[in-house]
Amino acid sequence: MNKDEAAFLKQGFRVAVPFGKSKVYTAIVYQVHDQAPQGYETKPIDQILDETPIVTPTQIKHWEWMASYYMCTLGEVVKAALPSAFLLESETMVSLNKDVVVDEASLSDEEFLVLEALEHRSPIHINDVRSILDKSNVVKVLQGLIEQRIISVFEEVYEQYSPKLKRYVKLAQHFAIEENLRELLNTLSRAPKQRDVLMQLFMLQSKDKKPIGVDALMKASKASSATIKSLINKEILEEFYIKKDRVNYEGEAGEEVKQLSEAQSTALKEIKISFKEKDIVLLHGVTSSGKTEIYVQLIEEILKTGQQILYMLPEIALTTQLITRLQFYFGDKVSVYHSKYTLNERVEVWNNVLESKPKAQIVIGARSSLFLPFSNLGLIIIDEEHEPSFKQYNPAPRYHARDSAVVLGHLHNAKTLMGSATPSFETYHNCTTDKYGLVTLNKRFGNVLMPDIELVDIKEKHKKKLMKGHFSDRLLEEMHETLSNNEQIILFQNRRGFSPIVECTTCGTSPQCPNCDVSLTYHQYKNELRCHYCGYHTTMLISCMACGSESMDSKGFGTEQIETELKNLFPKHSVARMDQDTTKGKHAYSKLIDRLENLEIDILVGTQMLAKGLDFRNIGLVGVMNADNLLNFPDFRAHERSFQLLQQVSGRAGRTQKRGKVLIQTYNPYHTILQQVSINDYKTMYKMQTDERHNYKYPPFYRTIKLTFKDRNLQKVGKAALWYELALEQQLNENVLGPEAPPVARIRNQYITNVLIKIPKEQSLAKTKEFINKVQRSFNAIKEFSSVRVIIDVDNY
Ligand code: ADP
Ligand code: ZN
Ligand code: ZN
Repeated sequence: MNKDEAAFLKQGFRVAVPFGKSKVYTAIVYQVHDQAPQGYETKPIDQILDETPIVTPTQIKHWEWMASYYMCTLGEVVKAALPSAFLLESETMVSLNKDVVVDEASLSDEEFLVLEALEHRSPIHINDVRSILDKSNVVKVLQGLIEQRIISVFEEVYEQYSPKLKRYVKLAQHFAIEENLRELLNTLSRAPKQRDVLMQLFMLQSKDKKPIGVDALMKASKASSATIKSLINKEILEEFYIKKDRVNYEGEAGEEVKQLSEAQSTALKEIKISFKEKDIVLLHGVTSSGKTEIYVQLIEEILKTGQQILYMLPEIALTTQLITRLQFYFGDKVSVYHSKYTLNERVEVWNNVLESKPKAQIVIGARSSLFLPFSNLGLIIIDEEHEPSFKQYNPAPRYHARDSAVVLGHLHNAKTLMGSATPSFETYHNCTTDKYGLVTLNKRFGNVLMPDIELVDIKEKHKKKLMKGHFSDRLLEEMHETLSNNEQIILFQNRRGFSPIVECTTCGTSPQCPNCDVSLTYHQYKNELRCHYCGYHTTMLISCMACGSESMDSKGFGTEQIETELKNLFPKHSVARMDQDTTKGKHAYSKLIDRLENLEIDILVGTQMLAKGLDFRNIGLVGVMNADNLLNFPDFRAHERSFQLLQQVSGRAGRTQKRGKVLIQTYNPYHTILQQVSINDYKTMYKMQTDERHNYKYPPFYRTIKLTFKDRNLQKVGKAALWYELALEQQLNENVLGPEAPPVARIRNQYITNVLIKIPKEQSLAKTKEFINKVQRSFNAIKEFSSVRVIIDVDNY
């Protein structure tokens, strides 16, 4: 490159840099200077790819903060931040086939290298394969792996979900005149079924001004589709279709923003007052208190100032309902940024944000949306701020999107509003110490009562023989009543599969995964035993591998078993299941939500996927099959999480006029957390739990950094972790814990052990990290440990 070109170059430009034979990397200009670096040879720049920077100085500042705070490289942050289309030409992705068991000895060296990379992260881009193998033609290697069924390749594209058109009916115009209607009802007295349908139509219309779906009408009137058809044929009813658009909204803002209730207005006012003094405010509002409408009002005000708005959600796939809602209000000002969109779509949103286009003035996104090139950010909303999925675990940067958003807001001088019905302790602690503002909303919108939560003692029920399978008589009773009221039921069970563990009743052995230290899970549908960690599976055993006895019994239970029991208990009702296994297909999740909304499902049983901010109108009952396995989880956040999850699941009940009912089945109804859940007492729960956290030196009072060591050799990983721990102890003393093996101590044949560092608030975080980096450098110099992988997770979850 010549001098003129160099003068043209600025931070944030993309350039092409050739490496090796025919490989070209795309890089981002970080700094323009004239000091030749020492110790390595610089590569010449081949080509400047942009005329203006695609990355802003603020972004680079933010990314530098992330790299330093989360102890990773700037390159790792850039990789997470940029849509890969900016960096790469071809779109081929390579992924590891989940269920293969690979005989590594049979692989060539190159094949092994690719496999190893994929075990660490899958899928990877074809260019990653090129750099792993250090050559540009990798087709042959990939071909070999495909033939051995070890990998699959695909083009990374994400088809948008196009919902089927929904069918609605209304009374024909002719009958809007009362006389005609009276006449009609008279003639229909000879067709009672059709008359019933009309009566139900009027009932539904009086409840709700919205269009009446055919499904809902059929359900309410118990009519067949033939009856409805004949009404349409007789021109009594008119049918029409509405497209229920989910992701891609092509309309104008239609809906008027709703008038806030008094409680909502007060909350909004308080938020605004709080924002005068503080940059960050938490809106602690119970489920269905109408938090979203408050966000909407704030968004409206910021829109007028011309500033950008970032609305962050824990998982976008789970919140299509909200996207539709915002698009109704703000039309094409809303952009959605999502890692599942095609690369081109992501680039488009990126460019729209970069150029401050009105189209992208509001961005809704999951955690990666905070990497966008905002120039004029005025407001960040972090909805469901307590959700653990805001924290990325793999790959690095292992960042918490909520905390990183706070820093982003600070860089932009923007305001940040967090919302939750069950705030994280970290955030609530920041409120009680006056770092954040706090606004509370403890009434549901429209004077809907909080659900009535009842604890059911299943130990007692077992004793009195009042259990049918996993259902207590109380739960069954409530279920029957709910169904007879034409309302729907959600059942929550924290495990998927049929029964997590199969056990030999003669010798007590249960089949284990050959690659991981866990018992295999029985999946009835395929009659298989599966490992939930590595995907290994085998057909269900007929006899015990240890003693040969044929008395294999199942212990515990999962969603699949509950579903099977339900089908026997309620043969006339439609039962569906929502868990990782049933939502794998492309739009499986959205379809399930649709079916539930359209009243095609009476009873939905599912895992915690059910807890996430869904707003259904017709759920009369929520049942928790067993609360104990949540509470007994070995993690210091287990009680906090249990409270959050149970409150959130309960919050799905009775979001309309009638009070919802929640039944929680447990062996331990006197557990403090359950008692607090049942009376919706966040504050006491927070107080008691944080007292304990304080005593045992955990967040929010101490910060934690978790180090994870992995190796194929058990002795080596133990030795390496111990060496590391002792080195850390020299300066950090008793605040280093471990090494300790986690409950599942081997995954995919890698042995795992952990070391936990606790950092008191008064100890310098920066200095501590510097010290850890120093220890890491010494560790890297030890040859014996060269195969041991160390993963550093700051503020681990
Ligand atoms: P949250 O996010 O606090 O759980 P939502 O914002 O989802 O609660 O509100 C719950 C329900 O109440 C939604 O169906 C919403 O449409 C309705 N709602 C909330 N505020 C209003 C309002 N001011 N006017 C009319 N309906 C409202
Ligand atoms: Zn046995
Ligand atoms: Zn396994």
